Amino acid sequence: MTEKVHITGLSRDELAELAESFGEPRYRATQVFKAVHERRLRSFDEITDLPKKFRAKLEEAADISRLTVESKYVSTDGTRRYLMKTADNYPVETVYIPSENRDTICFSSQSGCPLKCDFCLTAKLGLLRNLTAGEIVEQVIIVLNDVYGVGEETPHGTNLVGMGAGEPFLNFENLINALKIMSDEDGLFIVPNRVTVSTAGIVPRIYDLANLVERPHLAISLSAPNDEMRDKLMPINKKWDIKEVMTAAKEFEASLRRGERFTFEYVMLGGVNDRDEDALELARLIERYQLKRVKINLIPHNGAEQLDYSTSTEERVERFKKLLESRGVDAYVRQPRGRDIYAACGQLAAKAA
Ligand code: SAH
Repeated sequence: MTEKVHITGLSRDELAELAESFGEPRYRATQVFKAVHERRLRSFDEITDLPKKFRAKLEEAADISRLTVESKYVSTDGTRRYLMKTADNYPVETVYIPSENRDTICFSSQSGCPLKCDFCLTAKLGLLRNLTAGEIVEQVIIVLNDVYGVGEETPHGTNLVGMGAGEPFLNFENLINALKIMSDEDGLFIVPNRVTVSTAGIVPRIYDLANLVERPHLAISLSAPNDEMRDKLMPINKKWDIKEVMTAAKEFEASLRRGERFTFEYVMLGGVNDRDEDALELARLIERYQLKRVKINLIPHNGAEQLDYSTSTEERVERFKKLLESRGVDAYVRQPRGRDIYAACGQLAAKAA
């Protein structure tokens, strides 16, 4: 028996080839694509407008669904965390974050994560495996179906962030393929302009992204203004240091579209990287590279028993933000969402409670 294909991860062309291999006309592929991505149907049985014979062949050769939801946790602030399992039993986590006039879905790119950021709970899992393009797309389909109902329209569109478990830029090809599938007008129609992907600083992929025409917005996790500190917090810095990250960021800036900016994320760790001098050093760093189209997202640290850090006080975060602004650097504070259910940044660790 040959392996079944995961139809959710096929491009339009691949799907057309599959239909043709069954002796079906190519337009059938569009029908299937719409059924999976636009109508968000979860089994071939439900695609009743396909000939029965074709459905049976699809059933034999392919799966629509490769993820199952094990549990769902709902925060007091409305955030939902979905703990899913792949067909081969690896954990996948996805977060739904509602807000007044937009919803955000935060997807994972890997099961676990190979990076060893000292302040992040996902790091404790290590890398379990890369997720396939189909598994990335399916997370979004599952969440949309849960929130709005199967096939129901989303009232005000959906923003996507690749900020769940894993390092998206260590699974670059699957990530880009998944985003391409999700942007299709005959499918989820979540265009790249509504997507942001975050990297801990996998420098070669920052250049690759700069060269892509259709691409998501970029966020880079910096979290320290100098190598000494960043080496300790984010060991990936020993491979690509701040100079290399900043040089790549500069090049990326040159590729931005009109009105577009990119982001540096900065996790705020009480007494570690949140001092006045850290803010000033960060502002100087940005000035030295003459970055003009960057904004800083300050992320108050989200705690967990296994993590040795405390979160910066609200006053500290405000002061840090003001210092950056006083040097001409735009800064925003990311409001923590879903902390009570382990759904906030850096808290995804396949926890059952
Ligand atoms: N690996 C990618 C994608 C993860 S995005 C990256 O590092 O960018 C998750 C964001 O949350 C990153 O900016 C990360 O630095 C941050 N983060 C990790 N642990 C955190 C924690 N405990 N509290 C707050 N933010 C955290």
